[in-house]
Amino acid sequence: MQSTNRTDAKISRLKTGILDLSERFEHNPYFIATHRSLALSLPLIMLGAIALLLRHPPFPAFGFLKSPHFTSFCDALIDCSFGIAALVVLIGFSITLTNLQPWRPGQLRANSALTTMVVVSCFFVIVAPDGDAGFLEVLSLRDNILTALATSALASWLLFRLSQFRALRLPVGAFGHDPLIGDVFLLMPAAMATIVIFCIAKMLLMISIAPGLEALFASFLVSIPAMANDQLIYSLLYEFSAQVLWFFGLHGPNILSPVHEVVFDQAADANALAARAETMPPYILTAQFFDFFTRMGGSGSTLCLILALVIAGKTATSRKFAFIALIPALFNVNEPLMYGIPLVLNPLYVIPLITTPLVQAFVAYNAIDLHLVPRITEYATWTTPVFASGYLITGSIAGSLLQVVGLVIGTLIYVPFVRLSEQVGMLRNVKLLETLNNQVESQHAQFAGAHLLEMHGAEGRLATTLARDLDEAVKSSNQLFLEYQPQINVRNREVSGTEALLRWEHPSLGRIAPPLIIALAEESGYLDELGFFILREACTKRAEWSHWLAEDCTLAVNVSPRQLSNPDFCEKALHIIRESGLTPKQVELEITETSALLPDKRAVLTLHELRIAGVRIALDDFGMGHTSIHYLKELPLDTIKIDRSLTNVALNKANELIVKSILELGESMSISVMVEGIEEEEQLERFMSLGCTVFQGYLFSKPMPAVAFPSFAQSLYMEDAKQSESAPA
Ligand code: C2E
Ligand code: MG
Ligand code: MG
Repeated sequence: MQSTNRTDAKISRLKTGILDLSERFEHNPYFIATHRSLALSLPLIMLGAIALLLRHPPFPAFGFLKSPHFTSFCDALIDCSFGIAALVVLIGFSITLTNLQPWRPGQLRANSALTTMVVVSCFFVIVAPDGDAGFLEVLSLRDNILTALATSALASWLLFRLSQFRALRLPVGAFGHDPLIGDVFLLMPAAMATIVIFCIAKMLLMISIAPGLEALFASFLVSIPAMANDQLIYSLLYEFSAQVLWFFGLHGPNILSPVHEVVFDQAADANALAARAETMPPYILTAQFFDFFTRMGGSGSTLCLILALVIAGKTATSRKFAFIALIPALFNVNEPLMYGIPLVLNPLYVIPLITTPLVQAFVAYNAIDLHLVPRITEYATWTTPVFASGYLITGSIAGSLLQVVGLVIGTLIYVPFVRLSEQVGMLRNVKLLETLNNQVESQHAQFAGAHLLEMHGAEGRLATTLARDLDEAVKSSNQLFLEYQPQINVRNREVSGTEALLRWEHPSLGRIAPPLIIALAEESGYLDELGFFILREACTKRAEWSHWLAEDCTLAVNVSPRQLSNPDFCEKALHIIRESGLTPKQVELEITETSALLPDKRAVLTLHELRIAGVRIALDDFGMGHTSIHYLKELPLDTIKIDRSLTNVALNKANELIVKSILELGESMSISVMVEGIEEEEQLERFMSLGCTVFQGYLFSKPMPAVAFPSFAQSLYMEDAKQSESAPA
């Protein structure tokens, strides 16, 4: 028991360690730029993956696809997608990284176009071939993705550092009317110095070691065939090298092609000969062994990852992505997952990416060695789907069964990492949500609007995604709904009203705070639609409750000042109220004071029109803003709701005095006063002693689902009836 506890503690410590580490990575701008630049190239990768599949049809029946015209069509598609992916990565990286650079006064502001130019130039310094030959090759995904990423990171880092040296700034003033020209001239020496440093580095590399980064890798790995044999350890070593290369974005099997030529091709030929002579094939390891038993869905056995995403993925996005990536993966094309999740350079997936194929190699080797599965004697194109391929290369159903076992084991290895990765993503989103909420609540937002969609970086992206999701939620599903919080009149112990509060249960982020929903709707232009949805929904419910509630029990609905600027608001709102069967005086619209309201003559006029029609108007969160008294003068008010920040009168004498004067003011202007945010009995007693009678707060009830409201109201009436029955006449 004790040892189980100790193991649990160790696992949870390990998990926290991985989470901390990955969080540190997640905040590193170079890491963010790597992931975003790979993700940016995803449309090209998908196109390239499909073209590649058509170029290498899995079954002979699709031989008609091999016509010369169709082949060159596919080649053109591959060239313009995979073929230039390195360039896309360079550009994406430079722009993302530049935009993530913090700017401090006194420093030069980084310019993304300029960084891109320097980075592209440095890339060509490193990879440009001699003469024209192979010019396009250097831009390809297969050959130069790692060089592209490494160059982008190094060159932009160097440029940012050099540009901070005063000695490297040209003494120029403003150039004409365009500040960009001034920027370019200021950064010119640093940009030129960066490119020159890359040239020197390339020369040194050429002189001292070997030409090009990947050539360095290849020359090291070619030494592996020297140890070639047919042992289990060799299969593990080969697979390990191929997977490590993949982790760095390099096409492992292609780089290790010398191993194929020297070892595996000969083994395959010998096996085929033996099969024809009906003798025992001498080798276990051939290229097809790895293609079909350890790379199901492509390197990293990404088919297992797809299954793990479908089984364990909690977010709709990851499941949707898994289904999109499934089609190419069925034909062993894994680029969408490699660059889309991404698996490349992702510390969260490095363990399963490497261990899954190793475990599968171990199982497959032993299954063949123990004669549970026949040795490989036949050839199948690498795009042949799983199960069919297992059968084709071994000539036995046992080959397909071995693939089933490999898939199950691989999926089990991937599942915990899918969970971990989602957990990390969730933590990141929770933090981003917090930032967005703070932005909405900030003083700046009160005055100038939150401008969520214009925010830079991950926050801005989350805001845009949420705005898109909100659009869908408003139009269709049941993610948006209302809760109701009772307002209690303590004098007659009755529910004097109920406030409708908006709720959004986001499918992956959970509850989103209402002010953020409203701010997003406001910025994206569908506040009107959302506002009328809320009013209609609330009025319909209040009308349904008519026989449970007293006729004068009001329905309070929050309205944002922006909604009131709509010239049709009054007419439409009255139409909704009447259509639901309520009378205007049963509805109270709550307006929060913001700077947007008072200067807007149209909004104030709308309030007057509504009031004339009988709708009640309440001023919400009174006492929070700077212009509260001004509001009392300008707006036609029935109710003032004292803000929660003032309810803790016990803590602060000033609060008590403010509340007293609000009460006096309300009485003299015939405006009723309600106190919000009452949580404790002691608060209630103090306010009652100050003369307040209507309250809203957790002490009475938290906001509750619509179905719970009638029974709450009824229980209060019944309690009241019991008390009056037992009271002495
Ligand atoms: P509000 O209109 O002042 O609503 C009262 C808020 O205080 C609600 O938060 C409620 O759950 C919370 N509250 C009530 N009693 C207590 C208490 O005793 N203690 C504490 N700590 N909190 C209490 P909620 O639902 O998160 O709404 C926040 C704000 O979002 C609302 O403040 C309102 O300004 C806005 N909002 C909510 N629904 C809507 C809507 O349908 N339309 C518009 N335009 N704004 C809305
Ligand atoms: Mg309110
Ligand atoms: Mg309030």
